[in-house]
Amino acid sequence: MSNSDTFVASPEAKSKAKQFRTYAILAWIAAMIVQVMSIMKLISDDTLIMMIVAIVAILAITVLASTFWKKSNKLDPPSEKNGLKFFLQSQLGAIMGVLCFLPMVIMIFTSNSISGKTKAIAGGAASVAMTAAGISGVEFDAASIEKYSEEIKKQNQEAKSFGINTDKVYWSKAGNKYHAFNDCQYIKGKNLNSGSIKDSWEAKGISELCKVCQKKSKKASVASGAKKVLETVN
Ligand SMILES: [Zn+2]
Repeated sequence: MSNSDTFVASPEAKSKAKQFRTYAILAWIAAMIVQVMSIMKLISDDTLIMMIVAIVAILAITVLASTFWKKSNKLDPPSEKNGLKFFLQSQLGAIMGVLCFLPMVIMIFTSNSISGKTKAIAGGAASVAMTAAGISGVEFDAASIEKYSEEIKKQNQEAKSFGINTDKVYWSKAGNKYHAFNDCQYIKGKNLNSGSIKDSWEAKGISELCKVCQKKSKKASVASGAKKVLETVN
């Protein structure tokens, strides 16, 4: 793969990704603080309700954090070259989801100062929340520089087969599609960016050809093919 085929996130995409990463990290810090405070103050028979409230709060915060984290990886994905770094960056949401509950789960189940019933309820709730936080953080379709580069190559070939100029496509800020025609109904009247298919990926993290534009360009390329045949015949 030559360098020019390799995906490189645009500066805007990188800065957006950095912003999302910061949100995720701040949220994980908040979840950790709630966890530590819960361990210190809420493992008791008298504060079971507050403990459950804290568990729900931590779960909500960790789910939010991993959503931001996943978004950042879509915009500015890691390379697969360093396997450990790729794994950690892709799956950090799951790892942090578990870490935001595991110490609490251990402390509840090993506590000597609470009743068996409290232990079962609080420990059970924290275990369920830990599982939910972990699973919601798992990235099942991890983005990578290599995967994006491959996808861009594939899309370039496909778009060319429809007769699309792969160096001049259009996209709006929202949405994850690029368009072959700037008068497409989906982007009409919107503030448009234009550039190559690769540019659209680098700006948005992920991009695919709009279905309407695909149909229209297919038709156009069939028509021009027919015209060429006619010209040769004549
Ligand atoms: Zn379109």
